[in-house]
Amino acid sequence: MVPKPMPEQMEESEVETFAFQAEIAQLMSLIINTFYSNKEIFLRELISNASDALDKIRYESLTDPSKLDSCKDLEIRIIPNKAEGTLSIIDTGVGMTKADLVNNLGTIAKSGTKAFMEALQAGADISMIGQFGVGFYSAYLVSDKVTVISKHNDDEQYIWESAAGGSFTIAPDHGEPLGRGTKVTLHMKEDQTEYIEEKRVKEVHFSVEGQLEFRALLFVPRRAPFDLFENRKKRNNIKLYVRRVFIMDSCDELIPEYLNFIKGVVDSEDLPLNISREMLQQSKILKVIRKNLVKKCLELFDDIAEDKDNYKKFYEQFAKNMKLGIHEDSTNRKKLAEFLRYHSSSSGEDMTSLKEYCSRMKENQKNIYFITGENRDHVENSAFVERLRKRGYEVLYMVDPIDEYAVQQLKEYDGKTLTAVTKEGLELPEDEEEKKRYEEAKAQYEGLCKIMKEILDKKVEKVTVSNRLVTSPCCIVTSQYGWSANMERIMKAQALRDNSTMGYMAAKKHLEINPEHTIVQALKEKAEGDKNDKAVKDLVNLLFETSLLSSGFTLDDPQIHANRIHRMIKLGLGIEDDGSDIAAAVPEATQEEMPPLEGDDEDASRMEEVD
Ligand code: ADP
Ligand code: MG
Repeated sequence: MVPKPMPEQMEESEVETFAFQAEIAQLMSLIINTFYSNKEIFLRELISNASDALDKIRYESLTDPSKLDSCKDLEIRIIPNKAEGTLSIIDTGVGMTKADLVNNLGTIAKSGTKAFMEALQAGADISMIGQFGVGFYSAYLVSDKVTVISKHNDDEQYIWESAAGGSFTIAPDHGEPLGRGTKVTLHMKEDQTEYIEEKRVKEVHFSVEGQLEFRALLFVPRRAPFDLFENRKKRNNIKLYVRRVFIMDSCDELIPEYLNFIKGVVDSEDLPLNISREMLQQSKILKVIRKNLVKKCLELFDDIAEDKDNYKKFYEQFAKNMKLGIHEDSTNRKKLAEFLRYHSSSSGEDMTSLKEYCSRMKENQKNIYFITGENRDHVENSAFVERLRKRGYEVLYMVDPIDEYAVQQLKEYDGKTLTAVTKEGLELPEDEEEKKRYEEAKAQYEGLCKIMKEILDKKVEKVTVSNRLVTSPCCIVTSQYGWSANMERIMKAQALRDNSTMGYMAAKKHLEINPEHTIVQALKEKAEGDKNDKAVKDLVNLLFETSLLSSGFTLDDPQIHANRIHRMIKLGLGIEDDGSDIAAAVPEATQEEMPPLEGDDEDASRMEEVD
């Protein structure tokens, strides 16, 4: 029998109605309305609360044995009542006073309430409810009304009741005395009465741990193993134990690939000893452990980062892992971005964090500028960086192949867009004066751009006037969404690649010319004088190929380029070019396949006019 206080048994004034704290009310309606199949977790939560209550009174009795006088036995009973359609969980634990009932079951906001709802939205499982300290409300997964009768040593027996809907009532309880402890009665929803069948109750996943219990010891080794990213057999360094019994080495499900350098052991209280590989893959427990391990690792890196020298040593070894993490772990991407370090145009020998970069940004600067490339020397001296440096903007040097991948995922830091200085559409904050000059130059050089595009044809997408160059005559930029020069280099270097994709994935090249450069100015005059001038064609091609090289691309056919240079050298030395040297230098077969040089049939001395 469930002792239910009948209204006529008590004075009306004895019943007090309370409103649930807003977030708790929200959580309850969410729980009631969520479709979820593993509803049996409610039992784990309620038993865990009962077990906590037993622990508390046992603890109190250590200093004051008389606390157990109200009831000697410490026990939990689960009583199904088919006739009433209820399931009761009864404990002889510490119990709750009236104030406890009001506070703990509905009016005091818990930080976990909101956090849990957010976690649910982000894809967390309802079974994690206990970890957020709101496990009690899981009762509403299976019941439409819950009654809690409780007797604490310091107070009378009270009854708490709620059918959700934003409010609960509390009244003194005149039913069967509990002695001490709590009786939680679930009035089961009509479709949930299966839990009242005794058989079903025994079958549930029986753990009295409200929270997952596991211990982990993690550490970062001083050095990365030489084969960190090569050795596919040994996946990670985390050993899994269940209740101190060794289960397996290198448990994949416990840690993501980018943290495979972390060493440690995990000992779980919740997993069954005979767990199989297949079970591990699906285990929610493991997912929770994994999430917590990642969190702990990031905290560990935070600690290391506090000491600059120490972090430098760490980063020398594990920079790739941090970057791989940016690529793989979208949940922690933001956090991981804090751990990145780069050399930059103003960092000198040190490396800079993105945070430090931002602190040095100019007032009108909105973007974080970076360049990717093969090595630091290469990018430092590149034409792209010169203009930004000259105007006082800092450029990050990303010279690790994995940077290309990481930066594509990262996209921004602290609201500032990461902007490649090698891609088209680079807009620098500029003043009106400069803008006007640039517009004028664009108009003046439109004709030359057109002629150059005709000469280069399919080799480039377009030819435009640049606003980023200072000392170089031209450069090659790539389209916003295609590969960068560096990416094309990386892809070409991957021997096993299917070459058929190179065609359409290859960087879309735009040639940018510097209107302030004397070469470009002289070329303009010459080209506009006679656009069919063969020497102009040769020069345009030479400029293009040189820009390819200085912008970080490789030449498809370096021999043709070399031949053009040789012709220039001959001109410089005043040697008549009869083609004989080229013929001698190249094997027969290559000669036939080689396209004729522009102006080959012409008198080469015409080119002298350009110099
Ligand atoms: P948590 O157990 O994480 O604190 P719950 O929502 O499960 O969160 O329970 C909220 C609180 O209600 C508990 O902290 C406890 O104070 C009280 N409580 C719940 N069930 C019992 C019980 N059977 N006996 C005594 N107190 C309880
Ligand atoms: Mg609990």
